[in-house]
Amino acid sequence: MLTPAVSEDLSQLVQLDAGGQRSREPLFGLDAEALAARMVEAGEPAWRGRQLAEALYRQRVAEIREITTLPKVLRQRLDAEGWRVNRPEIVQVFQSADGTERYLVRCQGGDRLTVETVWMPEGDGGETGDGSDADGVETLRAPSIPLLSEVEGSASFNAEWVGNHEPQKATICVSSQVGCAVNCQFCLTAKLGLQRSLTAGEIAGQVVAVLARHAVEVGRDRVNLVFMGMGEPFLNYDNFMAAVRLLVREVGLSPQRMTVSTSGIVPGIERFAAEPPELRPKLAISLNAPNDTIRGEIMPINRKWPIKAVVDAVRQVQLRPRERITFEYVLLGGVTDRPEHAQEVAHLVRRTGLPAKVNLIAWNPGPGIGYSTPQPEAVEAFRKTLTDGGIPAYLRKPRGRDIYAACGQLKRTVEG
Ligand code: SAH
Ligand code: SF4
Repeated sequence: MLTPAVSEDLSQLVQLDAGGQRSREPLFGLDAEALAARMVEAGEPAWRGRQLAEALYRQRVAEIREITTLPKVLRQRLDAEGWRVNRPEIVQVFQSADGTERYLVRCQGGDRLTVETVWMPEGDGGETGDGSDADGVETLRAPSIPLLSEVEGSASFNAEWVGNHEPQKATICVSSQVGCAVNCQFCLTAKLGLQRSLTAGEIAGQVVAVLARHAVEVGRDRVNLVFMGMGEPFLNYDNFMAAVRLLVREVGLSPQRMTVSTSGIVPGIERFAAEPPELRPKLAISLNAPNDTIRGEIMPINRKWPIKAVVDAVRQVQLRPRERITFEYVLLGGVTDRPEHAQEVAHLVRRTGLPAKVNLIAWNPGPGIGYSTPQPEAVEAFRKTLTDGGIPAYLRKPRGRDIYAACGQLKRTVEG
């Protein structure tokens, strides 16, 4: 539900083409095997691919000339032959009083599109009760954050300022498409339509750029990923899963700390159910309504895949121990937040027989969308009805409202 800013200065485009370089696919986004194949084509031994993967995904080097594990002559040759890392780059940072940061990330493509990615220190409560913290909860402090002016315009921002810090705990919200074709009536991203799907490198690159900015130590810091930014991941299935594979195998993140949210694309859920468990994120379903009638009105996709079809597909997913399916539920004031709706949701979720929990999200307003935010009492009453009915229910904290970074609030605010 994020919104992009569109193409900015063209000077960089020209630079890319300067010197008559033949433009090649970006190295960032290729896995170790593909990198090895490219190295062999370039007349190098295959193990150079592993070195490149280490540099791109573990050391987070963003320029070929800085890959010091490669001999200098090789770096110069790759550069002269037109190879580029071309990792997506944070081009603008918005900082919230609550520590949330929203980024405009410039993609790899020649169209210079940007997408939005969000860093939420301490998360937003969305992971509670889904097994993410089953192995113990830590209380951690976020690092100090540099000023916007220190970051803006810096092409290869390096987060060395963080220094020696306590383990961090944060959630990164990642986009999968520029815009979205699904057209949910309450969502800002829907207003854009689908501009294009992101490549695997553009999806994984948002994460690596943010990990670099916060000097995250994979394996030590607790970083959760939620694929809940702009776009519908299951309508960009192959690129989305290729990004997950990169993030797991090359970057070293655990799929048990990743959650993908879908509006209920049944063929996507079925493919997802067939993924190997060691590569499968957790699953969240945007339920958002107590029945097909209301859901069909606010989410036209429900007419194609109604609730039962979605739930039947979800049943095919083999859950890990302690794992739960998350049902997300956006509360629209007067439309989906009534006591009888809560009863109906409790009944519906119980009937699925799935180990499940409900994440309630109070609707975040956006211009031109005619819904209203629910009353806090209605939200609490809704949650209580669910928990009284035996359904674990949590309220997603709105993060970064002051910088328009909360769910569904990410909106094009700056273009260059
Ligand atoms: N396209 C996917 C993932 C991105 S949307 C999906 O729809 O599931 C992530 C979550 O944000 C969804 O649960 C969606 O229902 C919710 N959302 C969208 N617009 C919102 C808004 N204005 N306020 C609160 N939540 C919103
Ligand atoms: Fe927004 Fe719906 Fe697309 Fe999700 S699927 S991004 S809620 S339009």
